[in-house]
Amino acid sequence: MSIARFLLTALLAGLLLVPADSPAQLTALRQRGYSLLPSPQRVELGDTDIALDGSWSIAAGPGCDFAAGWLREKAKEIHRLEFIGVSGGPKIELRIDPGAVKGIDDLGRSKQAYRLAIGSGRIEITGNSSQGLFYGAASLIQLARHAPDGRLIVPAAVITDWPELELRFIHWDTKHHQLRPEAVRRLVDWLALFKINFIGLEIEDKYEFPRHPVICAPGAYTKAEMQEFTRYALDRHIQIVPQVQAPAHFSYVLKHPQFAHLKSDGSNYQACMCDEEAIQLILDIYQDMIDATPGVEYFHASTDEIYYAGICDKCQKIRPYNDINRSQWWVDYVNRVHAWMAERGRKMLCWVEYPLLGQDIHQLPAGLIDAITVPDRAPEWIAEQNKGGIGQIAYTSIQGEELLFPNLFPVEYRGSYSSGRLEESRSIVSRIRARGGRPIGSFCAAWDDSGLHEETFMLGWAAFSAWAWNTREPTVEQATADFMDVYYGRSGSDVVSIYRLVEEGARFFEDGWEEVQSKERGVTYGNSRGKFPYHLTDYLLQPPALPSPESLAVKATFSERYADRIVRAGRMRVQIDRLIDLINRDIGSVERNRYSLEVLLSLAWLERHFINTLVELEAAEKSLAAAGEADKGGKPAEAVANLVEAGNTVSELLEERQWMWKEVVKVWEVSRYPKNRSVGGRDFLWVMDDVKDHFADRRQGLEYMIAPFQRMELEKWHKSLADCIGQYAAKHGVAVQGLEAPRLED
Ligand SMILES: [Zn+2]
Repeated sequence: MSIARFLLTALLAGLLLVPADSPAQLTALRQRGYSLLPSPQRVELGDTDIALDGSWSIAAGPGCDFAAGWLREKAKEIHRLEFIGVSGGPKIELRIDPGAVKGIDDLGRSKQAYRLAIGSGRIEITGNSSQGLFYGAASLIQLARHAPDGRLIVPAAVITDWPELELRFIHWDTKHHQLRPEAVRRLVDWLALFKINFIGLEIEDKYEFPRHPVICAPGAYTKAEMQEFTRYALDRHIQIVPQVQAPAHFSYVLKHPQFAHLKSDGSNYQACMCDEEAIQLILDIYQDMIDATPGVEYFHASTDEIYYAGICDKCQKIRPYNDINRSQWWVDYVNRVHAWMAERGRKMLCWVEYPLLGQDIHQLPAGLIDAITVPDRAPEWIAEQNKGGIGQIAYTSIQGEELLFPNLFPVEYRGSYSSGRLEESRSIVSRIRARGGRPIGSFCAAWDDSGLHEETFMLGWAAFSAWAWNTREPTVEQATADFMDVYYGRSGSDVVSIYRLVEEGARFFEDGWEEVQSKERGVTYGNSRGKFPYHLTDYLLQPPALPSPESLAVKATFSERYADRIVRAGRMRVQIDRLIDLINRDIGSVERNRYSLEVLLSLAWLERHFINTLVELEAAEKSLAAAGEADKGGKPAEAVANLVEAGNTVSELLEERQWMWKEVVKVWEVSRYPKNRSVGGRDFLWVMDDVKDHFADRRQGLEYMIAPFQRMELEKWHKSLADCIGQYAAKHGVAVQGLEAPRLED
């Protein structure tokens, strides 16, 4: 079929297109076996499939060179296809034509539009701008798949596509880790392929901050590196938008003795908001990040969780601390920063929420963008924002404070059913619109508080951004399948099951620990409810009670205390073994992003070690009980043998942990630097936050992931048992045989 006839058919189909509120079970493309995420606005499918091979060539019109180069590069990287055709053969034509896709009312969205016409011997990609062209090329790359006969095919089709929301942000939160530069570029590349066009970079201390270098973590990104990332991303139509935590969440600055005098009320959580030196320091940090990101139009000034705005004595001399004045401090700060950003050509985003009161929204500057518009905002709040010209960005978080893996899919979470973050995110834009909101973008947060790996965020980032591009489709299930096809290829056996099982194991890990009053942290300055001594908790398991050489009788504390978890652990062990089998199989068969599966494998082994800890400590406790019985029955040799067995069970557990942990570190440090490392003789200053208690901040290094195991002090437990065995055996004249000390490296 000729392209002209195709275009005509598409035009007619477009007229007949009926918008629906709920997605079809399958999109037309997926029905035909093709994956494309985000789902395009308008698809007109022909009957045939077109084979792509080396005989094709690329013809790039004016301004199309970057997209042509990128198309070549991705075709080679993802499909092992090189376009080496000569003129006269089949051809991919790239063009920019501002009128290619008409009828989109604002320029920001219109320039992202493209038309992709795939016919026999000829593919036309026409963008309304270089950005639209780039997205057309991304669609072609995603669509290409291998037919059963081995040919690489794309569908004969005309796709006319544009985003419903202009700004599609993902949150790259680097506060508790730092990616290696090659991992940053890889991340940008994959985000671009899913048509994500903004990264909110929560930089914290991972920049050199030329104006105040004391703030930067050793080995933080230099200005040259940040500018190079910025350029690399801009080429791929992604703006890296600095996201700077201030005046609260500011311990990364206030922990340094040089800035101690700028604390509000003595807390390193928040800077004093009426101290001009503190404000100037924050503006310096903003300026450093503006300098680091040339060509970027936005700045996310955060203003997150300023619970205690104006609480200190100094600020209270200006106005007393209460809800109304706290809101006013917030408003004054935002107005000042907004004007300051405007002078520097940056549009300002921030979290427009607590402690702001709805009655003060009218004081905010027009043009400010609220990056945290959520469906449960009061309609009056949204109406006030509309009246004041406050932009709205639909917010979801694909990760909050879950451990190891986010709650993406439906799961039992803390004792009750949770529908999962993907399902909750799918309809957010429509729900905000139903309340009168007019979102201009989306923000998919993935907080680093618990220190999860980026690889566990990719699906959520791609899916939520896809539902901002096209709010109607696809379903959660199809978005997941489309993502897996694009990200891993189609030959993996069952990557969706892998994700679901890792998630289940992570929830078991999280629920399985006991939470006891913290010995590591004591009380904090306060929490979100206000200033008061607040007790934090530590995750751990209480190891079995130890016998004494005088009396071997012990109570079965461990198996009683954790009876339910031990039963569940037995069942989970079967699941996680299956998970490890699946990943091993798929690492051999997926077409790309094997590294991502290595990360999931490292999590599976960590989850399995937790299960084994429950199972094996119960076994050790049984051996201790048997020793007690033998002693009571006057059989000291048998008692010693049982004690030795208990000791060896724990030895093996400790050795397993060491093996598992070495492997986890090896895999994680492929993409990230050692956490809070020393560089060039300079050490990281590790100081806890006076308010926040992030799981990932409980250890200076990556060991936060195994901190609950460390708190059990099983090495000490083993040593005490060995002493007990020695004394008991000597008292009874029995030789100790076969007791192994755990072979652990330092
Ligand atoms: Zn103050």
